[in-house]
Amino acid sequence: MSVTQQQVLDSLARIKSPRGVALTNANVLSPISASDGKVFFSINVDAAEARAWESVRAEAEAAVRGIPGVTTVLVALTAERKAGAAPPPPPQPSRGTPGVQPVHAHKPPQGGQSPMARQSEIPGVAAVIAVASGKGGVGKSTTALNLALGLRDLGLKVGLLDADIYGPSVPRLTGLHEKPELDGERKMIPLRRFGLAIMSIGFLVEEETAMIWRGPMVMSAVTQMLRDVAWGTLDVLVVDMPPGTGDAQLTLAQNVPLKGAVIVSTPQDLSLIDARRGLAMFKKVNVPVLGIVENMSYFQCPHCGTKSDIFGHGGARHEAEKLGVPFLGEIPLHMAIRATSDAGNPVVDSEPDGPHAAIYRAIAGQVRDQLKGVIAAA
Ligand code: ADP
Repeated sequence: MSVTQQQVLDSLARIKSPRGVALTNANVLSPISASDGKVFFSINVDAAEARAWESVRAEAEAAVRGIPGVTTVLVALTAERKAGAAPPPPPQPSRGTPGVQPVHAHKPPQGGQSPMARQSEIPGVAAVIAVASGKGGVGKSTTALNLALGLRDLGLKVGLLDADIYGPSVPRLTGLHEKPELDGERKMIPLRRFGLAIMSIGFLVEEETAMIWRGPMVMSAVTQMLRDVAWGTLDVLVVDMPPGTGDAQLTLAQNVPLKGAVIVSTPQDLSLIDARRGLAMFKKVNVPVLGIVENMSYFQCPHCGTKSDIFGHGGARHEAEKLGVPFLGEIPLHMAIRATSDAGNPVVDSEPDGPHAAIYRAIAGQVRDQLKGVIAAA
């Protein structure tokens, strides 16, 4: 049975808002996405009012969940700060109150603020790390998944969160398309594959829906995926960030409790310039850059194994040296990486004894070494 937007609106019309009118008349609802039993929308209020609206958000979610045919509901409360207004108090650890994380979409954070000041750690998760790139198409998601698998091969418990809200590719890269179920505490149970706990916005909404989200909705959805997912005990949670270094990415970098970031770049100049922007972004929010990975570093002929530096290989290593950040490794442009990725069988898992798996594991080893203290402490 498919659920219509009208059915959702009818159920929301019965909920009273703090403004004294029905929720549907309070002028706070985003367009409602309802397809295939999956419903997503946000309630957009001013940051100063956010706390008063949390119970409404929960009520709205419960009401929509009660509509026959609804399988997944995600109601995000997004709090926008008016220009010049004082920042809202930092969010409380959200155990038991999923969903509300006041966000600051229109005012990117200024220098020197620690992300930890904004976001509490995720219980049970020792280290959250970001995999980021200055632009799309450089192989960020492929690297994130294979890095996660490399960390797994080192004996760590690893999760992967696909926060690339503008084009979630983890469903394609893993072959997973099921909807996550809810546990007894109504937290989403991550899907499991290759020994990883995996969550993607692509499991919840259609790709096209995610594409049109505005900044605050992106942030709120990612926060919910971090906190309302039963991750269990993890040594490392790898977050596949949305590409780019705009306000949405900066806000995300600040609001996720990151222990470090890995930047993926191709050797071309343009993407190195973009990688530099990525470095600057993480520096701004005091997230240590664990290093740069050069992807599609050189072309390796699948037949004869000959290497060709078609993009002027080595730029990222040089750049990393200049900027004083670790250089983590070079991944060749190779048919096997593309083919396995796109078929949902990432190369580290499907060809564990091959040369590419060894490269990803070496990168994972350096990342693990940098996080050792954090993981051991947890
Ligand atoms: P991004 O997340 O940066 O947009 P993806 O990881 O989705 O990039 O990769 C984009 C495309 O490039 C995919 O088809 C992927 O299989 C391919 N790709 C990524 N890395 C490599 C590589 N080292 N060799 C060959 N193909 C690659």
